[in-house]
Amino acid sequence: MFKALVLEQQDAKTHASIRQLTVADLPAGDVLVDVAYSSLNYKDGLAVTGKGKIVRQFPMVPGIDFAGTVAESASERFRPGDAVILTGWGVGENHWGGFAQKVRVNSEWLVPMPAGLNAQKAMIIGTAGLTAMLCVMALEEAGVTPDAGKVLVTGAAGGVGSVAVLLLARLGYHVVAVTGRPETHAFLSALGAKEFISREIMNQPCRPLEAQRWAGAVDVVGGEMLARVLAEMAYGGAVAACGLAGSFKLDTTVMPFILRNVSLRGVDSVSCPLARRVRAWERLAAELPEAAYADLVQSIALEAVPQAAQDIINGRVCGRVLIDLA
Ligand code: NDP
Repeated sequence: MFKALVLEQQDAKTHASIRQLTVADLPAGDVLVDVAYSSLNYKDGLAVTGKGKIVRQFPMVPGIDFAGTVAESASERFRPGDAVILTGWGVGENHWGGFAQKVRVNSEWLVPMPAGLNAQKAMIIGTAGLTAMLCVMALEEAGVTPDAGKVLVTGAAGGVGSVAVLLLARLGYHVVAVTGRPETHAFLSALGAKEFISREIMNQPCRPLEAQRWAGAVDVVGGEMLARVLAEMAYGGAVAACGLAGSFKLDTTVMPFILRNVSLRGVDSVSCPLARRVRAWERLAAELPEAAYADLVQSIALEAVPQAAQDIINGRVCGRVLIDLA
């Protein structure tokens, strides 16, 4: 028997409860993993609260990421005892996920634990941190170098935003953080943010082109915020857009693209090809200093997930939330 958070639907409402399951209850897959840690991401918040149409088949074990040790494997890539990470691929959305002490998954979805990481560190990073790294790589590939000018991170105090601030600062960029919570300034300064702009200012309607301020930007918010970011990009700048914490809409003009050579790069972590994932994890292992992990995270038990899911949807979570499944 093992513990899992199970989502069910009654009267079109999602209910979450802790259940005891057996391995026979798990869906098909060629690798069984003993989960050590999972983490809470915005999408998990949407799934557990039922506020977003993330889960379409019930019952469902949510949890879009986990790290642990292979217990059984019918795959040639993995053996019992191997340390592994999983993020994305629809796990926790349409295949039972990481909010459980055991999972059975397709071996093609697993990434071997990179040198320098362990299950705890991997889930402090989690899907949010992986996405932040993919955003940084997108900016680098677009030619945004630390000497090109200031870089902006929106939703900075959240999971993706906080890791993006840390990574960019470590890489030598001058990071300007957009946050709606002034009480997080000390947290963000410790991660390396040099300046702050309030969410209210960045959410104001903008003209097609505003004064040129940013060489690069990581946007997790979308909507009016992303429209303003685009209008404020410096000539040749690039925006890595990965989120919709504010809105999935984007009302903008072609002006930044055709008059300032700005590029808008979409970033997806769910179906990101394996080779790029492995590269991103290796860079995370190399770039993140040992001391940063403790600064980024709060740890909770599985029982606390339903409340934490409400908190992340209401924008009250700071940094990353680690779920300890031991
Ligand atoms: P968090 O909730 O941890 O962070 C989101 C942050 O956005 C909040 O902390 C807050 O930052 C800001 N925010 C929230 N609501 C609003 C609003 N209405 N207007 C402006 N800012 C707002 O979530 P995650 O970091 O886990 O995820 C962030 C986004 O990225 C989500 O939309 C998520 O779906 C997406 N995402 C996408 C991935 C991909 O593969 N493309 C992977 C992972 C996440 P502050 O308090 O500092 O203002």
